Amino acid sequence: MRFQREFQPKPRNWKVVLTTPMLIGALVFPLFSGGGAMAVDESPTPSPSVSASPSVSPSPDVSILPITEDTTRIPLYDTDKASSLQVVVNKKRPLNPIDYLPRGKVQIGYSWVAKPAAEAYGQLKAAVSAKKLGTLCINSGYRSFASQKIIHAAKVAQLGKTNGEKLAARPGHSEHQTGLAIDVSTTQLGCRIGPFGASKASKWIAENAWQYGFIVRYPSNAKTAITGYVWEPWHLRFVGIELATEMKSKKITTLEEFFGLPAAPKY
Ligand SMILES: [Zn+2]
Repeated sequence: MRFQREFQPKPRNWKVVLTTPMLIGALVFPLFSGGGAMAVDESPTPSPSVSASPSVSPSPDVSILPITEDTTRIPLYDTDKASSLQVVVNKKRPLNPIDYLPRGKVQIGYSWVAKPAAEAYGQLKAAVSAKKLGTLCINSGYRSFASQKIIHAAKVAQLGKTNGEKLAARPGHSEHQTGLAIDVSTTQLGCRIGPFGASKASKWIAENAWQYGFIVRYPSNAKTAITGYVWEPWHLRFVGIELATEMKSKKITTLEEFFGLPAAPKY
């Protein structure tokens, strides 16, 4: 209590001393001083943009200072919510709920894709065609919990648990269940994913898909220890242009590394 009383007069004094003209001077002056020596006889002509700036509008409350950093531009990503464009799904991070069903899917060929990913895919496909690299097609898009269960069981039955799970995710752990992942190929390749990695379209997509908000989610065998999957050049994940651009500029190729999440080599 004593501590508080001793400091009570201080705010009162500040209110008296810091008159509005002084406050304006204090805020405007540094703009012209250029960080150099103080020169009180300088009387710069304020430019209209400075005098019109709301940051120097008279305010009797000295605690309100201009915010120099624009915090509103910092993107907020949600890596946990199943419906988030940036949800991170891997062998350690199942969808919540595990049988999550995305809303707003559109049909493309035989596949269904979540709407934002579908729109971006249309633009990506047009760009690939314009570059004369082939006609993009979707081999696999949205897969429900139930269908993933069948795919997973079939691969495990065929190849055994270890090898089967290298190719098929457990239900609830597949990005395809979000509707934001698509396995692409070209009609020239019969829409088969196997030969896609050797195509020019694949090389172009690996370099440019970020412009459309996609990443090659399993970018190389060198990242298998992080993502849990070998190189899958056909598996594109829509994360939104903002995040895809940020990953590209920072040269970070996996969501786990970008968000500082634990590696997910196995379940
Ligand atoms: Zn896939």
